Amino acid sequence: MRKLDYKKYLYPAVITVLVIFFVGGVVIGGASVMHMDGAYPPYEPDEAFAPLPETAGEAVDLLNGAIAQALTAAPKIKFVCDSSFDGDDISLTAKNGYEDLFKKYEGVFSSDDAEDKLEELYDKSYGVNGLAHEYETDYGDAGTCEVLLGGVAPELSEILSAESTDDRWVCSNCGESKNEPFDECEECKLTGAAEKRKRNTVCVTLTLASLPDFFPQRSVSQLDRLLNSEGFGSYVPTNITTEYPEVKLVFELDRADGRLRTLVFKAKTRLTASLETRTVPELSEYGDILLDCLFDDDIKYEITFPSISLNDAEPLRPGKTMTVAPGRTEAVKFSHQPNDRAVKIRWQSSDEGVLTVDEDGYVKAGKTPGEATVTATLTFEGWSCSDSVTVYVRKSVEKLNLNKYHLSLAVGGQYALRAQVSPRRATVRTVAWYSEDETIATVDENGVVTAISPGETVIYALSDDGFYKASCKTEVK
Ligand SMILES: [Zn+2]
Repeated sequence: MRKLDYKKYLYPAVITVLVIFFVGGVVIGGASVMHMDGAYPPYEPDEAFAPLPETAGEAVDLLNGAIAQALTAAPKIKFVCDSSFDGDDISLTAKNGYEDLFKKYEGVFSSDDAEDKLEELYDKSYGVNGLAHEYETDYGDAGTCEVLLGGVAPELSEILSAESTDDRWVCSNCGESKNEPFDECEECKLTGAAEKRKRNTVCVTLTLASLPDFFPQRSVSQLDRLLNSEGFGSYVPTNITTEYPEVKLVFELDRADGRLRTLVFKAKTRLTASLETRTVPELSEYGDILLDCLFDDDIKYEITFPSISLNDAEPLRPGKTMTVAPGRTEAVKFSHQPNDRAVKIRWQSSDEGVLTVDEDGYVKAGKTPGEATVTATLTFEGWSCSDSVTVYVRKSVEKLNLNKYHLSLAVGGQYALRAQVSPRRATVRTVAWYSEDETIATVDENGVVTAISPGETVIYALSDDGFYKASCKTEVK
């Protein structure tokens, strides 16, 4: 290989590059920003995950297994009885009509103050199995775990239906993640940018036939204070009925280790009663008032196991990876539970020739590109858990451009798209190609587009390092 005198060319080259960037940047800068489609990986379900439960039986087995695991390990459990009451969900009617008068009293219930009071009446009055409505156990408190979680799993015969999902939707522009599909992103206001992804948890919703025994129940007496303080005078409730039009148990567990994360019982209570209000003359002339109200109550368990998670600030990246430029030092992002000084964390590098890691999680990369695994092991009161991240020592890709952003081809026509990653010194320069609709145009691994049938589609390139995406609108005539 012929040797080049780099120093001789360095300054002219730098100046030329700067001039090209400056002039080119102004001209095409706007265009390339428009075509920066974000930097998120494509939809890739993790094959290592356990399958979702398909039947009520499988769902109950999954829940029972997760509860048994929690009872043995005695993790931290936060328990909250919570209520949301919407004033629009209460109605007052009377046999003798006069709707206007009763509108006034409906207004009483739909005020923020009344809603707060009705929520509070529930929250403060109830707990479960002798525990307060809000309760938190310590790690290792097996007795209280048993009180809180023992016996909460429903019998199979009590389940009307079961649904499981591990889908979520991510805004490809800003990364906002939701468990339901969305059109406009709440965060960046972009429409149509939601892409379907997988969660690393499975969420199961069981519809139950009846309210579980331990679930706190609503009663007419809870309305006492409110009714009396708002001018009803004394009254006698009769013909009280209580029904539960919706009782659900929603639980979410970690697909990698089967650990329970949340368990929520949700119940709607419909309460109806006749109120005799003889002590208030202006009300009594209309006869008995019929009260009909709907409460939304829930009991939530948040279960936290001791854990350590590396690089969790980037949940959109598949696997756990980070990149450090040769010779540089960078901190591994991590979080752990419990989040206190009692935990001990030990850091290790699988190949000290490639990189080393210090006791605070700072990775120091060697001079040459390579990869190594960094593992952190957390120990806390007899618990031990660990997590790893693959660290690449390399010059990262920062941007991806295509030579064309619009393509028009006749059926059968071909065009070779070229992708260019920057900076030019990037260690991994390869890209993968995708066609949004292969019935209109296909693209091969070298970026050669072949027009198949008339229509419009998008061809996009994805950098193997960093998942930068660039797309080319393709029209086939
Ligand atoms: Zn967004």
